[in-house]
Amino acid sequence: MKLLYFFDDKMKPKTMAGQRYCKPTETGILYDGISCIREYDVNLWFYTKNGVTVAFDTGHLNFKDIDEQFAKIHLDPTKVHHVFLTHLDTDHAGGIDIIGRNIFPNARVYMGAKEKVYMTKEMHRTVKYGFKINNCVQIKEDYIPIESAGIFQIGDIRVEVLPTPGHTVGHTCYLVDDIMLVTGDCLAINENGGYAFFDFFTQDPETNKKSLQKLKNEVSDRNIKYVCTGHSGIHPFTPSVFAHIDESAVFGKNNPFHKDGPYNPFKD
Ligand SMILES: [Zn+2]
Repeated sequence: MKLLYFFDDKMKPKTMAGQRYCKPTETGILYDGISCIREYDVNLWFYTKNGVTVAFDTGHLNFKDIDEQFAKIHLDPTKVHHVFLTHLDTDHAGGIDIIGRNIFPNARVYMGAKEKVYMTKEMHRTVKYGFKINNCVQIKEDYIPIESAGIFQIGDIRVEVLPTPGHTVGHTCYLVDDIMLVTGDCLAINENGGYAFFDFFTQDPETNKKSLQKLKNEVSDRNIKYVCTGHSGIHPFTPSVFAHIDESAVFGKNNPFHKDGPYNPFKD
C-alpha cells in the first residue's frame, strides 16, 4: 500500500484517537443549496442551484459507505459534472484517485496547477523523522489546472478561485455565488474563531499565514454567509473566522482543538 494511504487508512485511526483535531459536519442537506458528506474526519461540500450541483473535494480513497452517504443527500454522483479540488491530499482527492473507485466518474476536475508537482514527484509532501514523504495520489491527467485567481461560471453558479498556497503548494479556496467560502485545509475553526491550519499537516505554515491574510483582505467586502472547512465543519461567516490567522492551530490529547469533536473520527 502506498505510504500516505497507509497513514490515512491504518495509522490515522490509531494515532489520531483522542487528538481532537477535527469536528466535521454530519452528512446532510443544510441550507441555501449547501449539502455535505462526512467521511470520517473530513467533509466533501456540494452546492446546488437550478438542478446543477458542483462538488468540492472528493474524500478518502474507496470510502466504504460512500453510496449510503450520497443517498442521504439525494445526490446521484454520476450527475455531478464539475468537481473543484482544494488540494491533492489523500483525504481530499482520494475519491478520484486512478487506483480506486472514481466517485465522480462523469465530472470535469479543477485543481490548482501547482499541485502537479506532487504527482510528478518534483516535490515531496512532507518531512517526518528526517524522511521526505511523497504524496501518492494520482488523478487522471485531463483535469483543468487553475493557474491563477479567476472565475468559473457553471450554469448559474459562480465559482471564484482564491489561491491560498501554504498547506500545499497549489492549495485553493473557492467562493461560491459569493455566499459559500470553501477553505479546504488552510483554516481550522473552533469556538474561539479561525486559526491557521495545524503545522503538523501543513507544508509551509508561514506561507499559509500570508495566504490567509490575503484571503481575509480579498473577501472583506463580500456578503459571505458560510465558511465550509475541510476538518472543522461549516460555520457562519463572521469576522471571527480570521481572528487568529497569525497563529497555528494546535491539537493533542492534552490540548484539544475541538473539545467536543469526535474522540475517534474513524469510528465515532
Ligand atoms: Zn485534509
